[in-house]
Amino acid sequence: MNSKRQVNINGLTIGGDSPVRVESMLKISLDKREECLAQCERLIDSGCEMARAALPDKKFADDLKHLINHTKLTIMADIHFDPALAILAMEAGVRAIRINPGNMPLNKLNDVISCAKNLGVVIRIGANGGSISQAQLEQAQGDRAQALFLAVREQAELLLAQGFDDLILSAKSSSVNECVQANMLIAKSYPDFPMHIGLTEAGPGDGGIVKGTACISALLSMKIGDTLRVSLTDQPEREVKVGYEILKALELRTRGVNLISCPTCGRRRADVMNLVKIVEPLLKNLPDGTSVAVMGCEVNGPKEARHAQFGIAGTPGGALLFREGKSVGEYNFNELDKILPEFLTMK
Ligand code: SF4
Repeated sequence: MNSKRQVNINGLTIGGDSPVRVESMLKISLDKREECLAQCERLIDSGCEMARAALPDKKFADDLKHLINHTKLTIMADIHFDPALAILAMEAGVRAIRINPGNMPLNKLNDVISCAKNLGVVIRIGANGGSISQAQLEQAQGDRAQALFLAVREQAELLLAQGFDDLILSAKSSSVNECVQANMLIAKSYPDFPMHIGLTEAGPGDGGIVKGTACISALLSMKIGDTLRVSLTDQPEREVKVGYEILKALELRTRGVNLISCPTCGRRRADVMNLVKIVEPLLKNLPDGTSVAVMGCEVNGPKEARHAQFGIAGTPGGALLFREGKSVGEYNFNELDKILPEFLTMK
């Protein structure tokens, strides 16, 4: 979206004119092979385009190879502390690695860079507020956003000096403001490189979703970000779903139905909350981008319902149904259970 450069990981393009990609991370140890593959399948079904897999020890290198050879999902190996693990991951077949500038010594990266060059591997330099070094913090005079930026810059400059430019840059923090600031600094200094964005350690539930969304939306609204992950203390498929919801809300990508429903108020004619419960499971059969409106009364209901491809507007006795702006009839509330599955199809 904002980047001039594009990287290609097993056919998955990131940056340039590619859409903003949606990523997640496997949450199962690599030696649980079948569970990892099942999680990959669920991620593919949810629309995930790349998942990171942690390689914490060389004993998991064969498991990583098994994963790569048995899943269609693009995998990026997540590497910390030990450059030898990065080389093992590349030899196992991954075509993207993430290295952490907070814990990967600069003077030990030469072999990693040569191997990545030879095998055509993309490197994500991924700084994280939880692992910036004391030296990086001191260099930034305690400014954590600046320290994240300096950590990324230090590794990026080393790789660029060696002629390696298949890079994705990222800096994450658990603070929205810090994360936004760090990413703005990176985007300003490296406007040509694809960036991965997200808030780290956002937490569970509504709070985690709101924090992640606040950070990612702020950055995307400044045209910063080519690939994202919504980090949640939850199943990885949930991260992907929220990622797409953010992109849908910002009108950057469409996945799933655009459901417009009123919050309801004392004026409501229809029980919108119950109607939405009936409608939501039926939406998965509709094509991406279809608009469905569920409205409570005649104030905004008929107009929103007419404007959407499928409209349901509450009336005193039930609901008026609209299709492509035309009324298809009024039904009693107790008929809707039966009518809606047939109504909400593209036939
Ligand atoms: S559409 Fe009607 S019921 Fe829904 S919030 Fe607006 S006024 Fe209230």
